[in-house]
Amino acid sequence: MARLDPAEARRAHATPGRERVQRPAAGQWEVRGRRVGIVVTSPLSTHQAFLFRQLTDAVTVFRHTGPEPDAQTLTRFAALGIRLVETPVSHLRATEGTLHAVVLTDGTEVPVDAVTVSPRFVARTELYEQLGGTPAPHPMGGAVITTEPTGRTDVPGVWAAGNVGDLAAMVSVATGAGVMAGAAVNADLVAEDTARAVAAHAPAHA
Ligand SMILES: Cc1cc2nc3c(=O)[nH]c(=O)nc-3n(C[C@H](O)[C@H](O)[C@H](O)COP(=O)(O)OP(=O)(O)OC[C@H]3O[C@@H](n4cnc5c(N)ncnc54)[C@H](O)[C@@H]3O)c2cc1C
Repeated sequence: MARLDPAEARRAHATPGRERVQRPAAGQWEVRGRRVGIVVTSPLSTHQAFLFRQLTDAVTVFRHTGPEPDAQTLTRFAALGIRLVETPVSHLRATEGTLHAVVLTDGTEVPVDAVTVSPRFVARTELYEQLGGTPAPHPMGGAVITTEPTGRTDVPGVWAAGNVGDLAAMVSVATGAGVMAGAAVNADLVAEDTARAVAAHAPAHA
């Protein structure tokens, strides 16, 4: 269980223009060969730039308020022809739902056909916390529940599966984790029932 951080989601949904895309892997084939702008909003934005570079040779990274890229990243950008714009972004220019350009704070317009931002995922840990758990910070921002491979958490009797413990899990991985956790929960219940039965049975044969 995870959700888009509301502030990031609102920002993404407030972005004008039909050509707002978030991930190059799912359904973004339609921007192939087009001018894609990456507005840096997270440490993953650089990775996004390389992913979109698979689809188009017209990728522009807008550093905006993000950190200065390191030398290795700059070398890679240069080798792949990825343009880096240092001036912060003011807004996007779009008319009737069609995106035209990223407008910088100095008034410069950079023509684009699509822009992308990185959302920040925050696992929904309220229930886990109510039961006494403490979520762990995630390197991408947000928080997750730390689990063993079976989904067992550090709170006795509580298992977690899917995005709540693994923000990168896709449907098949999340489903598999759910199956694993279900089997582990059942094994735990069997062990508990058996221990209870043994305890109840023992005095009669003592
Ligand atoms: C934009 C986007 C595109 C994606 N595209 C793909 C794709 O193409 N292919 C793919 O395989 N995966 C894709 N994924 C990932 C996929 O959505 C996840 O892998 C999957 O949803 C994880 O399942 P889950 O059960 O862990 O969490 P969820 O699907 O988030 O289910 C958790 C459920 O628990 C509910 N819940 C949370 N807290 C509580 C509570 N306290 N009480 C009761 N209910 C609660 C939530 O409302 C939710 O319904 C995409 C994800 C995003 C964000």
